[in-house]
Amino acid sequence: MIRKETAPESLADFATDESGIVQAVGVEAVCFPQSEQEVCEILAEANETRTLITTSGAGTGLNGGRVAIHGGMVMATQELRTPQPRELLALQAEQFGQQYVIYIDEKRQEAYVPAGVSTELLDQMLPEELLYPPDPTEKSGFIGANIACNASGSRTFHYGASRNWVLGLRVVLPTGDIIDITHGDYTADGELRFANQSGIQYAVPLPSYQMPAGKNAAGLYARPGMDLVDLFVGSEGILGVITEVHLKLTERPDNIVGEIAFFSSEADALGFVEDLRAAAAGAMTVLSIEYFDSNSLDFMEHEVLAGKDYGAAIYTEVVGTLDELDPLIAALEANDYAADWFADSSEEELEQKEFRHSLPDEVHAYLRRHNSQAWITDFAVPAEKFPEMLQAYHAAGAALREKFPREGEHCLVFGHIGNYHLHVEFIAHNSEELAMAKQLYSELARQAIAWGGTVSAEHGVGKKTLTVDGRTMPYLELMYGKQGVIEIARTKQALDPNLILNVGNMVPRSYFKELNG
Ligand SMILES: Cc1cc2nc3c(=O)[nH]c(=O)nc-3n(C[C@H](O)[C@H](O)[C@H](O)COP(=O)(O)OP(=O)(O)OC[C@H]3O[C@@H](n4cnc5c(N)ncnc54)[C@H](O)[C@@H]3O)c2cc1C
Repeated sequence: MIRKETAPESLADFATDESGIVQAVGVEAVCFPQSEQEVCEILAEANETRTLITTSGAGTGLNGGRVAIHGGMVMATQELRTPQPRELLALQAEQFGQQYVIYIDEKRQEAYVPAGVSTELLDQMLPEELLYPPDPTEKSGFIGANIACNASGSRTFHYGASRNWVLGLRVVLPTGDIIDITHGDYTADGELRFANQSGIQYAVPLPSYQMPAGKNAAGLYARPGMDLVDLFVGSEGILGVITEVHLKLTERPDNIVGEIAFFSSEADALGFVEDLRAAAAGAMTVLSIEYFDSNSLDFMEHEVLAGKDYGAAIYTEVVGTLDELDPLIAALEANDYAADWFADSSEEELEQKEFRHSLPDEVHAYLRRHNSQAWITDFAVPAEKFPEMLQAYHAAGAALREKFPREGEHCLVFGHIGNYHLHVEFIAHNSEELAMAKQLYSELARQAIAWGGTVSAEHGVGKKTLTVDGRTMPYLELMYGKQGVIEIARTKQALDPNLILNVGNMVPRSYFKELNG
């Protein structure tokens, strides 16, 4: 019997996600499948009865992706277990009071992980010498959702996004059919043709738009000759429910050194970043380069910041023994650092990671305390446009502050500077401030796109929309045009003919009516 909850307090747990930008409406139940077979049953029946299903992970998403805004049923993935035993090393651990099993091929450095395992638990479960390198800041998010959003993190600078580490997937399609795919099984020739486990054939048309060359998590993946696995990575759950991921692992570096450098001026911090890039292009392994603007440092509460007034800070992780760190020390000295926090023990490394994670976490706690809302960007731009984009971020923050002078921060800028990808967190205390934050966000989005960038480099677009001349459109439309969004709808419909799964992510529901006349 599939576990199902209908009590208001159970539904309330799934009413929104960490972003709070949309709320669930008219949800009848939350179901908790424990096996892939139960996922199949739920989807087959929903497909038959035309019941909308929205897949949920841990709810840490920042775009309303797991929120059922059109009613129907939520499918929680936290109780999903491994779909089939394998003749490999089985490792067990507990999460939410339940036992989970992952399978490891130590020789090939690979893992098979059920969708509902958090990245934190995965890290704890892996043998000490092995690492799953994508490193999203939020560790409670589930691996299935991470892959559904093509999540990335600080170490994407060195290791790339989740996509680079996915070897294969098991997915239940919206019709209830299972596919078990490995990279290289199916490649596109105009469209993607493949068969499911029962031999049913699919021919899926693909979007024809050109994606930005840099880091990107906006819209379905679309490249000539692309692989079927890549279609599902970053698809935000609109094409199927991921039940198990087959991951590539790597050796865990055993001498990671963390460094947080504080600067009096932003120009010095940017100089330090450039020197780190040069060191990374040379002999030094640089895993991450992360940025904090002065507002972020003012906002954060930590003893290293007490009584200080820094202009910016850079967090980096490098690999090396103490006598291999000359390029790091030279970069610090060349850029007039004001202070630094050096971590060469795993405990201190963890403390620094917590420092980095505490910023978005503190913002969200602050918002809850003040009943306020934030509007957060996720844009990335090509390298040559980054300095102008950074100035545009600061100008946007200054404009919000000037229009609404009050105590407290209005705009924090921080994140993955190594990938030319910063988050701007606009903090709005009332609806007028929020309206202006959204306006500034839209202007910055247009600017990022005009410069060849993306509206989402890691969070995905979910249900984020903007209103232009009274018409509500998805942000994707700014990037790929209306035709591009319709093409995504067409791809979805080839796998979800009755439009039951994750409706509203990437493509608003009304666009399907247009597609189908
Ligand atoms: C403080 C903070 C820091 C963050 N830092 C990062 C970061 O560094 N990098 C980053 O990429 N993101 C970051 N995020 C965003 C978020 O953690 C990621 O998007 C994460 O992948 C979401 O995981 P989740 O389990 O919470 O998914 P949810 O929010 O529950 O769902 C996210 C999306 O995935 C879909 N989905 C969930 N499970 C499945 C499945 N099994 N099959 C198909 N679709 C599915 C959902 O329908 C939804 O569209 C951060 C969020 C917070 C709050």
